[in-house]
Formats: sequence, structure tokens, C-alpha cells
Amino acid sequence: MTQYRSFINGEWLGASDSLPNVNPSDLSDIVGEALLADEARVTDAIASARHAFRNWSLTTPQQRADILDAAGAKILARREELGTLLAREEGKRLPEAIGEVTRAGNIFKYFAGEALRVGGEIVPSVRPGMTVEVTREPLGVIGMITPWNFPIAIPAWKIAPALAFGNTVVIKPAEAVPGCATELVKILAESGLPAGVLNLVLGPGRVIGNALVTSPDVDAITFTGSETTGRAIAAKCVETGKKVQLEMGGKNPMVVVDDADLDVAVNAALDGAFFSTGQRCTASSRLIVTARIHDRFVGALQQMAAALVVGHALDNATQIGPVVDGRQLQQNLSYLKIASEEGGQVFGGELVERPTKGFFMQPALVTGTTNSMRINREEVFGPVASVIKVADYDEALAVANDTPYGLASGICTTSLKIAAHFKRRAEAGMVMVNAPTAGVDYHVPFGGRKRSSYGPREQGAYAREFYTIVKTAYVKA
Ligand code: NDP
Repeated sequence: MTQYRSFINGEWLGASDSLPNVNPSDLSDIVGEALLADEARVTDAIASARHAFRNWSLTTPQQRADILDAAGAKILARREELGTLLAREEGKRLPEAIGEVTRAGNIFKYFAGEALRVGGEIVPSVRPGMTVEVTREPLGVIGMITPWNFPIAIPAWKIAPALAFGNTVVIKPAEAVPGCATELVKILAESGLPAGVLNLVLGPGRVIGNALVTSPDVDAITFTGSETTGRAIAAKCVETGKKVQLEMGGKNPMVVVDDADLDVAVNAALDGAFFSTGQRCTASSRLIVTARIHDRFVGALQQMAAALVVGHALDNATQIGPVVDGRQLQQNLSYLKIASEEGGQVFGGELVERPTKGFFMQPALVTGTTNSMRINREEVFGPVASVIKVADYDEALAVANDTPYGLASGICTTSLKIAAHFKRRAEAGMVMVNAPTAGVDYHVPFGGRKRSSYGPREQGAYAREFYTIVKTAYVKA
């Protein structure tokens, strides 16, 4: 059986406690076993990262770029194998899993280039004979807490910029997905990363994650996950004076107006709401549809959702993989019950039996909802979308923005005027026109507003805001 171990100062370490890594498509398939670290291991990992920072922070951009580029190439060369591991441990169907691995490889190659592009400014001083230099330096030791829903892409988009700009890292992946994080760390070590620069600790968030967050020797925390955990982490970071970046939930609207191309709208909704089993923080979970197109849109979407093939993530015929675990499945089903009790009509959402025992659920569409219902206020994080019927575009925009979240917001329309208006007025970090709210490029900023995000943006050139610290130097000639 494959064992996943913590990696500290270049060594893979044992532990007495362990947790099986279960395939959600087939509960009899144990992908591996994670050996669980304790708080003392976290302290060791932080000390190792602190020690390694001295040299790593002074390496040349070329040295860092070469390692990141080599890691990116190795990830891309192994995309099928790593995609299969991802599909087994998280349940994303194979093409989606390979796509995620490809994204991770591309991210490393992108940040290999970014290591060379940090730059700085020379500013004339207001004082005679003085020059001012504004430069960026690495922050120090970065603690990373990552979720299960993108088990290789999210660690990649945090680790790559951290290393590119000269920081050292301690990462704690979600308990459900130790395999992908382990392979990623192995690839970086094989690509020439010195011992201690990247450390991995496996174990429960409330113990291992908390030890990272409360340590005075960690300079910054980057977190992706639930809002409740994120808020608690932010408060602790403030107490210990850490820089913090949070990416949390969404209740992303997709507006469909009367003039929309019906095929475009239905396909965008199908993908945005249900693909990756709806387990995306950018999922199109609120479909806000104007009156004249409403019935045609709902009819077509119901038909296509009912025809989606749910099954084993490694089965070629599968379009929707399993829910990640039993707890998430119960959460999805309980939201369908709540929606029904509040007056919504639920289509789909049945448990599905397959030759292997797994967490299979048919995607669900809830119609006849209002924006004040819980199904439209709270993140479900499963293959569940609701439809809100509105009179016109003005009402659609108001409803789209009436949410505590602000990650992604979409509109389907053939009107340039409406699209331009929506792009400017949508209260979200990302806006999509005639496209699903989920599915983003790897080289541009990612993040939201309101309760969805906190701190600087992730990804693209904007990542340097979080992973560097500014120094202002005054030089007298
Ligand atoms: P969590 O927010 O609890 O987990 C995210 C990460 O935080 C994991 O690595 C977890 O570790 C860690 N963690 C948990 N508790 C603490 C703590 N006290 N201190 C530090 N780190 C901690 O999300 P869940 O996985 O429990 O999922 C619950 C819900 O969160 C989902 O149903 C969904 O609604 C939402 N979610 C949103 C995501 C997004 O991208 N917006 C991603 C994942 C979940 P461990 O796994 O070991 O507990």
C-alpha cells in the first residue's frame, strides 16, 4: 500500500497514526494511507523552512526559474498518471483531472518566467542628491492550507509564486487528498529544490493547520476553503501579525436574459453548475433567468441535466464523477430538502447506484426559488443549482448582486450594451460573458470581493502582491 508521509528538511518521515485515502468512486479501493504528523512535526517543518530561507531568499532568479521550469515539465510529462491519481483520490472524472494537472504544470512554467520579472522602481527624491529605490523582497516562511477540490492546481498556484519570489513553504493539504500534494512535492525535490525550502505536513486541519496559523515563526498564511475556517484563520493571523490571503466560498450568479442564445446559455449553465460535480468555488449555483426565456431555458437544462451520466471517475462514459465524501453528499442532500421545504421544486438529485459503491448523485436543479431562500444564500458545494425567475435585466442584476459573496458572476446575452453594463456593475472579482462562471485561465488574477476573498489576488502577475514585501531604499550620491 502506498504510504504518504510528511516531508521535512528533505526527509520523508514516518508516524504512528494514519488515515486511509479512499476512492469516492469505489469505496473498496484504498488509494493509499496518510501517516499523520503531530504539532511537533509542524514546529520542525517551520524551523526547517526558516533555516532554508537564509540561502533560498538569496538565490538568483535564474536558479529559481530553472527549478520551477523543470518541475512544470515533469508535471506535464506525467499528466496522465497524475490525472489518474487525482481522479482516484478526489473523484474528478479523468479528462477533468488531466486538465487540472496540465494547469498545474503550466502554472509552474508561468512562474518560472515571473521569477525573472520582479523588477522595481527608481523614483526621483524630493530631496537634492537623493535617489529612491523601491524593490520587492521575499516575505519569509509561507504557511499554506489547501482544500480537497483542486488537489494539485491549488497547491501549485500557491507553491509556484511563493518559490519564484524566494520564499520557503510549509504546506498542509486537505486530509482527503494527500496523494497529489505528495507527488507535487516529490517532483519539486527531484527538480533540484534544496532541502527545507518546501515542507509538507499531513494531518487534520484543526491540529496541523492550526499549529501553522498560530506559530510566531510563520510570516504569512494563504488559505483556500470554507468561509468559517477562513474567518477563524484570519483572526488568528491578525493576532500573530501575519500577512493573510483567503479564498473562500461563492454563490455565483449566472444571469440569462431574454435575448440570450439559448444553446449557449444552457451549455454554460450545465458546465458551470454541474461539471466537476459542482465542487468548485466558482460554480454557477444561482441561475437568474428573465421571464420570456425562463420556461425554454429550464426545460432544456432539465433535459440535459437528467441525461448526464454519473459514474466512476475513471469510466470513459462518465460525465459527472462522485461527490468527494459521505459528509459532502449529506450536505448536498440536506440542502435539497431545505429547498423543497422552502417551496422550491427539485428535479434530479437522486442517489445513483453503480457497479462500485461510491458517492454518486444525479445533478439537481431547483426551480421556483426566490433569492432569500437558503439554497440561494449558502454555498452547497455539490451538483446543485437553483433557478430564480425575474422580470427583466434590471431585476436580474439586482438579484445577482444581492448576495454576501462576490467571487464570479456571469451573464448570457447577445447584447453588447447589456454585457458592458453587467461587466461594470457586477459585484464580483471575476465576470464571465456567455461562458460558465467556472473555468478560468492560469495567467491572470483569480479572486473575489465581499465574503468570498480577503487579501491580495492569487495567480498571474498579481500574485507578487502577496508573496513579496516592498522595500524603499534612499541612496545619497
Ligand atoms: P475546510 O475549510 O474545513 O478545509 C479547508 C482546509 O482547511 C483543509 O486543508 C482543512 O484541513 C483545513 N482546516 C480545517 N480546519 C482548520 C483549522 N481549524 N485551522 C486550520 N486549518 C483548518 O473545508 P472542508 O474541506 O471541511 O469542506 C467544508 C465546506 O467548505 C464544503 O462543503 C464547501 O462548502 C467549502 N469548501 C470551499 C472550498 C472553496 O474552494 N471555496 C474548498 C473546499 C471546501 P482538513 O481537510 O485536514 O480538515
